[in-house]
Amino acid sequence: MTLTYSQDMFNNSSLMFLLIDNAGTIIQHNNSLKKRFDYKLIGKNINNIFSNSCIVLLKQSLKLSFNETIKCELILSSDKKVKAEISCIKEKNSIKYFKFYMYDISEYDEKFQMIFDVGEIGMWQWEIGTDLTHSCDGMNYLFGSTGEIKSYTEFLSFINRNESSRVDALIKEGIKKNKFRIIFKLKNEKYISLKCKVYHNTLIGIAWDITDKMVNVKQMQINMKKLEQNNEELEQFAYIASHDLREPLMGIAGFASLFKRRYEKSLDSKENYIIDKKGMSYIDIILESCKKMSLKMDDLLAWSRAARGDNEVFNQIFNLNDALIEAKFSLNGKLSNSDCQISVVGQMPNVKGSKTMIAQVFQNIIGNAIKYKKENQPVKIEINVKTLNEKKYLISIKDNGIGFDMKHAKRIFTAFQRLHAVNEYSGTGIGLAIVKKIIEKHGEDIWATSEIGIGSIFNFTLGKA
Ligand code: ADP
Repeated sequence: MTLTYSQDMFNNSSLMFLLIDNAGTIIQHNNSLKKRFDYKLIGKNINNIFSNSCIVLLKQSLKLSFNETIKCELILSSDKKVKAEISCIKEKNSIKYFKFYMYDISEYDEKFQMIFDVGEIGMWQWEIGTDLTHSCDGMNYLFGSTGEIKSYTEFLSFINRNESSRVDALIKEGIKKNKFRIIFKLKNEKYISLKCKVYHNTLIGIAWDITDKMVNVKQMQINMKKLEQNNEELEQFAYIASHDLREPLMGIAGFASLFKRRYEKSLDSKENYIIDKKGMSYIDIILESCKKMSLKMDDLLAWSRAARGDNEVFNQIFNLNDALIEAKFSLNGKLSNSDCQISVVGQMPNVKGSKTMIAQVFQNIIGNAIKYKKENQPVKIEINVKTLNEKKYLISIKDNGIGFDMKHAKRIFTAFQRLHAVNEYSGTGIGLAIVKKIIEKHGEDIWATSEIGIGSIFNFTLGKA
C-alpha cells in the first residue's frame, strides 16, 4: 500500500524524473515526463528528448562522479524550457547511473515575457568580451529593430551618432562597478534608460522609454531659463527706473522749490500776489509728492541692489552674531528710542553667506518688530537658531507685536505691499521684499507665521559654514 502510494506520487508528480546510464540510454522515467512525448522513451538516447543546443551540457553532465550534482537549464525537444538537477547516483562496474529531476519553467518565462510586454520594457544581454548580444521583443520594439539585436556593434548602431561612443565608454566603465544606469538617445529620437547588472560573464540590461520625461525636463529647463531672463530684465528695469528717474524728479522738485521761493512774496502792480494761496498749496503738494516718490525710489534702488547682489560675496564664513551686531548698530536710533529687549537662545553659529546682506535681513525684521509693536507693551524679540539638517540652520526671529492675518503671509514679502496704512505705521512696503531677495540670493528659504494680537515669527534658512 505504502509502495503503491509513493509510486503513484512519483509517477504523477509535476516534477519530471529521468534515469539514464552513462551511454545516455533512458532506463526509467515517470508519467510526468512521458506525457510530453508520444513515443516510448525507455531504451532511447537522451539526445532524442532534448534540443540540440543542450548536447554540450548533457555530455558534461555524463562526466559527473558518484554523488556529484549540477543544476542547469535545459530545453526539451518540444522547445519547453526546464530547470534540471542532475546527479550521479550509482557507479558499478564502470557503469554510472544519472538521475534527472526537472520542472517546466516555460510558463514562468511566458509570464515574465508578459510583464515585459505590458510594461513596454526591453531586456538585453551581452556576453562580455564578445560581440554577441541577445534582445527580447520589447527591446527590439524600443530600438526600432526588425529582429533580434544579435551583436554589440549592432546595439551601438541604434544609438544617436553623437552619443554612441559615450554610451560604449559608460557601459565598459559600468561593468567594473557591476551595476549601473545610463540614459541615452536613439536615432529614432527615443530617450532610453538602461539599467545594467553583471551576472557571471553576462551583462543584463533592462531598458525603458523615458522620452516623455526627458521632453518635460527639457521644456522645464527652457522655461526656467526664460524665467531667469525675465527676472534679470525686471531687476535691471527696477535699477534703471530707480536710478535714472531720480534726475528728472530732482529737476521737478528743485524747480518747484525755486518757484515757491521766488513767487511766495512777490506782488503784481496792483499789489496782488502773483500766485494766490491756493496756487502755493499746489506747489506744496508737488514738493510733498516729489519727497514721497524719492523715498520709494530709494527703496526700489535698495531692492534692486539686493536683487543684483553687486559686489557681494555669498560664500563668506562669519558668525551670525557679527551680522546681528552690525544690524543693531544701524538700528541704534530705533533701539534706544524704544523699550526693546533682544535675546538670543543658545549660541550663534558660523554660517555661509554675505555678512552685510544678512545684517540687512536682521535690521529689516527687527526694525519691523519695533515698528509693529503693541501699544504700552515693551518689545520682546527672541532669536533662535536650530540645526535643520546636516547642511542648514533654521533661524527664527519671534516678536510679541500686533501680528498679521496668515492669509497675507506671502503678500507681505511682495514689493510695496503693506497691510497697514501709512498714517498708522510709516513705511513703503519694501523692507520684507528686500529680505526675501537677499535670502533667495543665498539659495535659501524664508517664510513667516503670525497670530493677530500675539506676534509674528520670521523664519529663514542659511548654509552651515
Ligand atoms: P513696511 O514696514 O515698510 O510696510 P515691509 O515690507 O517691511 O514694509 O512689511 C510689509 C508689511 O508686512 C507691513 O506693512 C506690515 O503690514 C507687515 N509686517 C511686517 N513685519 C511685521 C511684524 N513684525 N508684525 C506685524 N506685521 C508686520
